[in-house]
Amino acid sequence: MTSPSGSLSELAEAASFAVCAAAAVTRAVQRHDQRGKIDKHDGSPVTIADFAAQAVVVRELVKRLGPIRVVAEESSAYLRNPAHAGERKAALAAAQLVWPGATDEEFLATIDHGASVLEGDDRPREFWTIDPIDGTKGFIRGNQYCVCLALVRDGVPVVGALACPNLSPDAEQPLPQAENDAHGLTFVATADGPVLTVPADEPGGTHRVLERVTRRQSADAAGMIFCESWESSHSDQTATRSVMAALRDRGVKIGHSARIDSQCKYAVVARGQVDVFLRRPKNPDRRDWIWDHAPGWLIASRMGLTLSDAHGRRTEFGLGRTLAANHGVLAAAREHHDMVLSELRSL
Ligand code: AMP
Ligand code: MG
Repeated sequence: MTSPSGSLSELAEAASFAVCAAAAVTRAVQRHDQRGKIDKHDGSPVTIADFAAQAVVVRELVKRLGPIRVVAEESSAYLRNPAHAGERKAALAAAQLVWPGATDEEFLATIDHGASVLEGDDRPREFWTIDPIDGTKGFIRGNQYCVCLALVRDGVPVVGALACPNLSPDAEQPLPQAENDAHGLTFVATADGPVLTVPADEPGGTHRVLERVTRRQSADAAGMIFCESWESSHSDQTATRSVMAALRDRGVKIGHSARIDSQCKYAVVARGQVDVFLRRPKNPDRRDWIWDHAPGWLIASRMGLTLSDAHGRRTEFGLGRTLAANHGVLAAAREHHDMVLSELRSL
């Protein structure tokens, strides 16, 4: 498949490079004591690394691909407030780790390249979407998070890249112990090819085709493994427990549920490390952002998993900045997906 802007694999190469470059910045910030945390007093945490990573991803894409439309989570408004000059300086310094020549104004303008709108007559047919740090609470805790990037075309993600800087490449390892890998792993998918991986600290490194781990003896003995949000406020963990108990009552061998932040959940279910990713936000009216799901959704789909929201509906990426028609996520191999969905429906 080709497009005026290049083949999907060329676009994926640019995407992979961009998230790996940003991961170098987030890794450096996460190692600092305060982890760049900014208290915005509105309950949504952000760090200087969110701004720096967004700027780096946009800059790398524009450098390689020229004019592009971008819909991203952050804007420079907070940093432009004179009361936040210290954080602005720190965010710029973080971006300069991989973008040494960045000036203050260039840096802020690059962050704001992510302000494309998805409404009205000028809505783009094709756009990139970025979550510079998904799982910010995990990032601040020192746990899992990822840098997320996807190209959405006609309402469908066609390129997706997730840099998971703390995730071990070893899919045989039980979760959530693998929290501080020295290299991390980047997953890259296109709508027309295999899912590839590259060490997250090797932008431009050699990519390998991702293979699903064949079910390990130990895991077979342990039963079906679930994963869900680390944060109990993000997802109804009681519902997960109830589904697991109901399946156990039906004689299905059920293991544990691993708590893990961010779209790393899509990556670990995609590679077969866990069997089921279930995310059912407590608030039934909650609508997630497209950038919280687009790359992970493509990666898990391309690994052959069945994906829907927590009510069995197809995930729709063409309805604006949110998944307006969806609530939550259920990703698993078909057989597991349908078993879990049927229990969810009878809760
Ligand atoms: P996860 O790590 O899967 O829990 O997802 C992280 C995402 O949860 C963040 O990107 C937020 O957009 C989203 N989030 C934040 N607050 C809530 C909430 N109260 N309920 C559901 N999701 C939330
Ligand atoms: Mg997010």
